[in-house]
Amino acid sequence: MNVIELHKKTWDRLQARRERLPHALLLVGQKGMGKFELARLFAAGLLCEQPTPDGTACGGCLACNWFAQGNHPDFRLLQPEALSAEGEVEEGKKKPSQQITIDQVRALDDFLTVGTHRGGLRIVIVNPTEAMNRSTANALLKTLEEPPPSSLFLLVSSEPMRLLPTIRSRCQLIAVPTPQPAHAEKILAAAGLNDAARWLALAGGSPGLALEMGNAGQGAWLGTLLTRLGAGPRLDPLAAAAELDKVLRDGKGKVLLKQFVEAVQKWLVDLTLAGGRLPPRYFLAEQGTIAGLAAMIPPARLIAAYRASGVRRQEAEQPLNARLFLEGLFLDYRALFANR
Ligand SMILES: [Zn+2]
Repeated sequence: MNVIELHKKTWDRLQARRERLPHALLLVGQKGMGKFELARLFAAGLLCEQPTPDGTACGGCLACNWFAQGNHPDFRLLQPEALSAEGEVEEGKKKPSQQITIDQVRALDDFLTVGTHRGGLRIVIVNPTEAMNRSTANALLKTLEEPPPSSLFLLVSSEPMRLLPTIRSRCQLIAVPTPQPAHAEKILAAAGLNDAARWLALAGGSPGLALEMGNAGQGAWLGTLLTRLGAGPRLDPLAAAAELDKVLRDGKGKVLLKQFVEAVQKWLVDLTLAGGRLPPRYFLAEQGTIAGLAAMIPPARLIAAYRASGVRRQEAEQPLNARLFLEGLFLDYRALFANR
């Protein structure tokens, strides 16, 4: 996905800072906007020896080569170990940390005090900045308060309100807004995603999430699930559970139970909207079915079902038995339509 095209205005705003760089920029926006990728591309462009006129890296110089291989001497990425080690966790090993550790922040001291390659810039990306406990955040704050010359911090955050106010106030804010759907669809389609509009709606307008969902082959199981949900009062809960359980097993870890629950949650949101005569937020193509079903359900039941689905979403992380879990899910769903 071309995040520069996706966020052209933000990119131009970043480039406008190029000549007079502050010590720290804070990129904020919804999850799945490509903020981290944007920060990385900006850093690459700054370190490049012959950047193109729009500020992107040339991709061919020595600096670009180092950067691509992850060993540019003037660049550091601070992120939780769990993000770096994705998919490489061996059994029996300690679980990788979900947090940026204080040791990672302290290790910056050496990096920031030695001279830079060819007297250029030193850049640190922190991603996501909210993944720090208080003492780690305070350690980072110390560094931000006394920034060495020619250093730039690029902080990335989806939850800026969770940051220390003192960290926020040290940074210039760069908003990475949610793009207009039509624009995002164009970029997603150019990235090879079929049905971009559908995935974007399902992802609540987040292009990154839309791409992830579309590429994860969710199309197949989502169709199966929606057909079952669309049956409403005629749903056979046990058969539906058996079918989805098979999808899970065939998915060999690529399809997760929690994804089913999340899809059902979205379905409940759309049913609630339809009950208030509002258009669906997620399942645009199923609007007619959803409106028909919503007319059969008392609104109070939907609210209770949505609350219960939050608990289910938690349980889906560690279900004792997926088949039983799904049977419960579908039995409760069909009960929405029961006469009383
Ligand atoms: Zn270059």
